Amino acid sequence: MKKCLECGSEKILQNAETEERTFILMIKAFGKPDAIVFKDAVTSKVKAKVCVNCGYVQFYATNLSELNRIYEIHVNSYNTKK
Ligand SMILES: [Zn+2]
Repeated sequence: MKKCLECGSEKILQNAETEERTFILMIKAFGKPDAIVFKDAVTSKVKAKVCVNCGYVQFYATNLSELNRIYEIHVNSYNTKK
């Protein structure tokens, strides 16, 4: 987010942490979501960009290499089922 999607301001605070008291917001995805065990779970921290003009918040994941790997598994699985 280079400009705020809500108000157009360029005053964006990058890399803000997310936290809900003692818990940290995480992304969780599975390479094999239907498996009973060994679901190939991948987690990623979530960072935030905050417009300090209007307060609009955009979240983004940080573990892109592993999330890309899971994405490829899902895409290949979908294409196989076609
Ligand atoms: Zn804004």
